[in-house]
Amino acid sequence: MSADASRFVIPPPPQPALAIAGSEQLFPVRRIWCVGRNYLEHIKEMGQDEREPPFFFAKPADAIVPDGATVPYPSLTTDLHHEVELVVALKGGGRFLKAAAANDLIWGYGVGIDLTRRDLQIASRNIKRPWEIGKAFDASAPCGALAPAAKIGHPAKGRITLKCNGELRQDGDLAQMIWNVPEVIEKLSEMVALAPGDIIMTGTPSGVAATVPGDRLECEIEGVGKLTVTMGPALK
Ligand code: MN
Repeated sequence: MSADASRFVIPPPPQPALAIAGSEQLFPVRRIWCVGRNYLEHIKEMGQDEREPPFFFAKPADAIVPDGATVPYPSLTTDLHHEVELVVALKGGGRFLKAAAANDLIWGYGVGIDLTRRDLQIASRNIKRPWEIGKAFDASAPCGALAPAAKIGHPAKGRITLKCNGELRQDGDLAQMIWNVPEVIEKLSEMVALAPGDIIMTGTPSGVAATVPGDRLECEIEGVGKLTVTMGPALK
């Protein structure tokens, strides 16, 4: 619902947005959808059934943290994990979309980290409760500047890496995705109506591990871009 701003009883919240590489313009973010289990090696390291189709969860749009920022180490966890992921930013949407036409809806791509309170995620999973406390906490979605598809095309392959303090932790290739980006869009659009401003974090390759205050996380996707963040002290 849109409304005359003067009718709001408190000031409307700020519009979350992503930077755009080489530009002062911004991409406004509506929602963040995330794909679970989309790289075979990561499914194996998490001890899951590799024949299961991928599933989706969400983070709040204001969980975004920009490139170069310090991420506050979140509360209530002793096992915060990094998951480097390709981020897809939509300029179009709809329901029951077809994979063959999905690329036309993509504005651009970026590099993100699906930060995960792994201990809380697994505790929720084990008692069949929702995942929000493990996945959708404040500052849980660092995301670098977007590269427009008009400039880089639609990457179906390319090395995806995460280094922690210079040590290579995650090292995969976009070609290892079980469900590729157009298929992810098709599947997700069966569940919700996608819309311009929605972004999708498309799953992580293997090598997820704990990150602690003081860590410098450097992520890169070949042909897409980079993202570097520092883990800050624990929230009090
Ligand atoms: Mn993930």
